[in-house]
Amino acid sequence: MPGAAAEAAWGFIVNADRLREDIVKPALLEHVPSDAATWTVRARDGAVLLSSGSLPSGPAAFTANFAAKFPDWALEFYPPPPRLIQAFLISRQGLYFLIFVLIAGILVFGLVLTIRSVSHELELARMKSDFVSTVSHEFKSPLTSIRQLAEMLQSGRVPSEERRQKYYDVLLEQSERLALLTDNILSLAKIEAGRAEFAFARTDVSALLSEVVTAIQDRVRHEGFAIELEAAAALPPLAVDRTALSQALTNLIDNAVKYSGDSRKISVRAYLEGEDIAIAVRDFGIGVKKEDIPRLFERFYRGGDELTRTVKGSGLGLTLVKEIVDAHRGRIRVESEPGKGSVFTILMPRPPREEP
Ligand code: ADP
Repeated sequence: MPGAAAEAAWGFIVNADRLREDIVKPALLEHVPSDAATWTVRARDGAVLLSSGSLPSGPAAFTANFAAKFPDWALEFYPPPPRLIQAFLISRQGLYFLIFVLIAGILVFGLVLTIRSVSHELELARMKSDFVSTVSHEFKSPLTSIRQLAEMLQSGRVPSEERRQKYYDVLLEQSERLALLTDNILSLAKIEAGRAEFAFARTDVSALLSEVVTAIQDRVRHEGFAIELEAAAALPPLAVDRTALSQALTNLIDNAVKYSGDSRKISVRAYLEGEDIAIAVRDFGIGVKKEDIPRLFERFYRGGDELTRTVKGSGLGLTLVKEIVDAHRGRIRVESEPGKGSVFTILMPRPPREEP
């Protein structure tokens, strides 16, 4: 029957459950991002066959029917529900809340700034008053001993020539210390007011060191100190402010003397180190704790331990050293171990070599 095949009706049976669960659902989940839209698949009678999550309320934004050969289902898309916080923020209360948070933020910020500047002012005031009392003490005690020694010498009550000589040494040392303190205060005040003027001149560093060391050696010889000086022969001349650099070196060597404890040996070395000229002042005294090293150059900073407190000082010496070294575009390095001693090294950039 050749006509029978031509008249036969073709078709296929759809397993609705498999179509829904195995094909439609994975396809929708994969292709419709959950934050872009929610969706449902409904049968003709309105029953929900599938949905992307909880059932959305309100009308669908878009509805499409499955193709004619599929079951008579409709696919509905709904816009995503507004997020809770977003909805809150675009409401009127949300706006008020936002303004409130903004004003509160500004107030807190202002408060923090005020507290910071007040505590900074208080800290400065405390440092100034500490400074005044330390400096007055620093001036008073050498002045008292100078007056007493001078009175004894004047009254002729000093029995031996040897004792008289010792008194002269102490007088010299105390007056030198006063002069150093005064110079430190004046120089630092000038630098901080931006009035310091450095006069750079080509200088033989070894000769300058020798002058400084000799002056201090004379002053501290009676206490048994021996200051060794070792300068490499071929040091190139450096452009420095002689007065300022002498003052910085004097402060370093003076500290080495003050913080030597029972040791009486100090060494001063000048040598080439890479691209720098290094001037190292080493003592074998009380040393500095590692955690205190970064604070040593702060204004008025004085080491906190008992040993340091037994030594007189203003906490300005190293601040000035740092300022002077900075003005020469140099660096300063500290190596120290408590109980073993310290090395303070000034590193000055070496001048470019002159063409022959
Ligand atoms: P001052 O010696 O007047 O206290 P400085 O600014 O010169 O002030 O030094 C700051 C601090 O650094 C000192 O109080 C001391 O604790 C520490 N210090 C400086 N030089 C040495 C040193 N050679 N050995 C040990 N501690 C030192």
